[in-house]
Amino acid sequence: MEAEASNGNGNGCSNDHDIIRWFDTISTNVATVQRETLRQILELNRGVEYLKKWFGDKDLDIREMDACEMESLYTSLVPLVSHEDLEPFIQRIADGDTSPILTQHPITTLSLSSGTTEGRQKLIPFTRHNSETTLQIFRLAAAYRSRVYPTRSNGRNLEFIYSSKRFKTRGGLMAGTATTHFFASEEYRIKQEKIKLFTCSPHEVISTGDYKQTTYCHLLIGLFFRKEVECITSTFAYSMVQAFSSFEEQWEDICKDIKEGNVSSKITLSKMRKAVLDIIEPNPSLASRIEDICKGLQGSDWFGLVPKLWPNAKYVYSIMTGSMQHYLKKLRHYCGSLPLVSAEYGSTESWIGVNLDPSLEPEKVTFAVMPTFSYFEFIPLYRQDQYSGSGSVDFIEDDPVPLSQVKVGQEYEIVLTTFTGLYRYRLGDVVEVSGFHNETPKLKFICRRKLLLVVNIDKNTEKDLQLVVEKGSQLLSKHRAELVDFTSHAKLTHQSGHYVIYWEIKGKVEERVLCECCREMDASFVDPGYVVSRRTNSIGPLELCIVERGTFKKILDYFIGNGATLSQFKIPRCTNNETLLKILDLYTVKRFRSTAYS
Ligand code: AMP
Repeated sequence: MEAEASNGNGNGCSNDHDIIRWFDTISTNVATVQRETLRQILELNRGVEYLKKWFGDKDLDIREMDACEMESLYTSLVPLVSHEDLEPFIQRIADGDTSPILTQHPITTLSLSSGTTEGRQKLIPFTRHNSETTLQIFRLAAAYRSRVYPTRSNGRNLEFIYSSKRFKTRGGLMAGTATTHFFASEEYRIKQEKIKLFTCSPHEVISTGDYKQTTYCHLLIGLFFRKEVECITSTFAYSMVQAFSSFEEQWEDICKDIKEGNVSSKITLSKMRKAVLDIIEPNPSLASRIEDICKGLQGSDWFGLVPKLWPNAKYVYSIMTGSMQHYLKKLRHYCGSLPLVSAEYGSTESWIGVNLDPSLEPEKVTFAVMPTFSYFEFIPLYRQDQYSGSGSVDFIEDDPVPLSQVKVGQEYEIVLTTFTGLYRYRLGDVVEVSGFHNETPKLKFICRRKLLLVVNIDKNTEKDLQLVVEKGSQLLSKHRAELVDFTSHAKLTHQSGHYVIYWEIKGKVEERVLCECCREMDASFVDPGYVVSRRTNSIGPLELCIVERGTFKKILDYFIGNGATLSQFKIPRCTNNETLLKILDLYTVKRFRSTAYS
């Protein structure tokens, strides 16, 4: 199994067939594969301080132990933890302590999670294993995609990807986002060779840390090679939608650059300018062709921009599930009938699952768990309203079960034990098992576990909010307007609190329509705690705040300024962050209070 797994780093699997066969092998008999994975992790990190703390000084001979015995010993002695519990250990590593704290091999690189879901960035150990598994899952997913949407060998991939600035921690370790480390790795280069699709932009464009300049150059080079582009990708759908909406404003400059073989003066970073100038040449006929297309597209609000500008693209590929689902509507608008393929499920901590059915609509996609990447456990979650419980607890939990014992239709929180020093680590994502590929479960992403909106006995998650906003914004489409982005806040006052939902809208909408949207959202929360509290007025009427156009860009800029990267960026769907609330309140132009329940 180990030999097969390491084939994924580029030396062994000679073609798609091999990597699919490899996955078929590891996804069969997953109980054994998972125990073997746990054994490898424990052997690799035998004797580290953190494990000693739970195992005591007993020098367990993991290799000789019965696999089931080892698994139950591990799960009975080592506790479930969250990032907060591991933080003191990770901080010591960041500060330069090279003793074997979490791993035997000293950690030299740390990843910063995007921080946009939890509100703060987490430091997470990063090793070569992360890049290797990234390469493996990308190759596997590409093999499945190429069965449905074959691409021309050695074509180009227009990738809207972005690195953050990397920095050194106090102890001299390299820190940056996980995607930044991957784009700079050897595995990123190997991936292009293996899947025979080469990214349009050179590293100098990806790595600058200035997302506006990077986006411009991605578009410029992508259009220069427009006939060679076989697919268009990004890590999360948000960055792709950002890129196309900035194209609506910058297409004339881009056409001018293509005509003259030049780079606009707004690209000020010299390395980036030089790298782009080395690629593009004057091409007046291409420029005038693109100009004609854009003039036509302007009349249809840029519907079908992607297939018109990149006529040979076979599909668009990005994470479109979870908090990205909101951007699907806009993405479909830009892509017309071009297939949208929902990308894999993972986190800075570990990759989790692969999309084996690229032809599925993004709303229906599931992720088959990669059983050699980490040791997975699943905490069964039961919705509170099945019980009489109340308070701020979101779900009733049962004891964690191993991967091989999950059940279809059940919701779980994922727990990870990774090769990089995280032991029984609660990821905080809620998933539902929707079936199996061989024996490995296929997961539907439900939401982040953390409750977003809570005033008193009400409990609403990211998913609940998303459904409510979808319902409320349906009215906008009837009035030729669209919801660009949204977030929320539970406003607590000493008497009663209420929910505030912030909307940025494109298009003109009458006040009476917005009033109706506000009422509709308030009436659409189905959580019994909320409904009861609204009826008794212990939660006040929902408030809808309309913010100026461009406000959510300001929020993006705020996060980027604090070290986030556009590649991993997710707008927080609920915030208590004071700076963000200040931005939102400063740019609020209209406020409505719901008339539901009155
Ligand atoms: P980060 O480590 O900060 O990049 O964020 C990882 C988180 O993004 C995961 O824990 C999920 O909540 C979310 N995520 C990643 N991949 C997907 C996906 N395919 N669908 C939905 N959410 C995802």
